Amino acid sequence: MTATISPATLSSTGFVPLIVPQIGGSEWKYVKECLDTNWVSSAGGYVDLFETIMAEKAGTKYAVATVNGTAALHIALLLVGVEPEDEVLVSTLSFIAPANAVRYAGAWPMFIDAELKHWQMDASQVVYFLEQGCYYKQGVLRNRRTHRRIKAILPVHILGHPVNLDPILAVAEKYELPVIEDATEGLGAKYRGRSVGGIGQVGCFSFNGNKIITTGGGGMLVTNNADWAGRAKYLTTQAKDDPIEYVHNTIGYNYRLTNILAAMGCAQMEQLDSFINAKRRIAQRYQASLGKLPGISLPEEADWARGTFWMYTVLVEPVATNTDSRKLLKHLGAWHIQSRPLWQPLHQSPAHRENDVTSCPVAEKLYSSALSLPCSVGLSPADQNSVIEAIRDYVTTR
Ligand SMILES: *Cc1c(COP(=O)(O)O)cnc(C)c1O
Repeated sequence: MTATISPATLSSTGFVPLIVPQIGGSEWKYVKECLDTNWVSSAGGYVDLFETIMAEKAGTKYAVATVNGTAALHIALLLVGVEPEDEVLVSTLSFIAPANAVRYAGAWPMFIDAELKHWQMDASQVVYFLEQGCYYKQGVLRNRRTHRRIKAILPVHILGHPVNLDPILAVAEKYELPVIEDATEGLGAKYRGRSVGGIGQVGCFSFNGNKIITTGGGGMLVTNNADWAGRAKYLTTQAKDDPIEYVHNTIGYNYRLTNILAAMGCAQMEQLDSFINAKRRIAQRYQASLGKLPGISLPEEADWARGTFWMYTVLVEPVATNTDSRKLLKHLGAWHIQSRPLWQPLHQSPAHRENDVTSCPVAEKLYSSALSLPCSVGLSPADQNSVIEAIRDYVTTR
């Protein structure tokens, strides 16, 4: 189906938002069906269907719906056996959720820098840290500085582009470390032809409002491991062992997704391919019109990647143009255009200051120069032209 331009893009009000949902398919119909049939809560056909569709998209045997992507990450860490005082390697240039999930499990994130070319977790830094920064003792891999056990690797596919996974998978296999993919920003992206999220031992997705498809809020965990899939369902539904007597053998969580939200998710999934096409078209238009501007560098897709350009992000190079990303953000704001920098790298986050970290100069550089531009699925050519004009105006009047 063709995506319609949503009124939420607000071109009539003269404001261009960064990213808004696109509700253009059977959302109303499926949600109404839940309301009409009283299947509004956490059981119901749409939860099962959404899981089936998700597993198919990710290329995995199993998928378990969760209340959000952060909950999926928390459960993923428990499934692979992360325990209190363990360490998990996490991308430092990421939204904070994966690092927080590591702390929920009582473990510590060990932050890894980004690479300069595609801004993803630097696979060579992962290898270097495991080979040089760790030691083996009695069959356990430990961090030389903290002496904590290294228990998993959590690469985050940021902005709709995949991490270079092969070297990470190889070193993970060598040290018997599970790989949990944070694919919350990567739904639909391909790494060497395979769907991200379905490549490591567990993958996590999010259906938050700004993600490529949304349920308002929601998440999913995918895996090929039948025991883990069953365990994930068990842990996300309060670990109920006897549904009649309410016997629980362990501490579970209420991390369920409701049937109403799953219904919305099924409708959104039907439009995923058209959403990705729209994102890629938007990226091409930016590429064609911003590519020659001095001091603006554009995102590049790796040879081994088919990205979604979920969040279209450019680098504003301060030296070349006497510009800077925060000044450009203000300039766009004056044109009623919303833009946003990337996240403060997590190794600099006050919330995670107690963690061990290798040096992360690339993430720090990207943090200071990156700016995400409006890229809603329903972004109109007219609105995109306004963004392009505003950036040209800024760069040429410097
Ligand atoms: C959105 C996101 C999540 C999970 O988000 P929820 O809002 O909990 O669904 C996790 N990691 C990254 C990198 C994200 O961008």
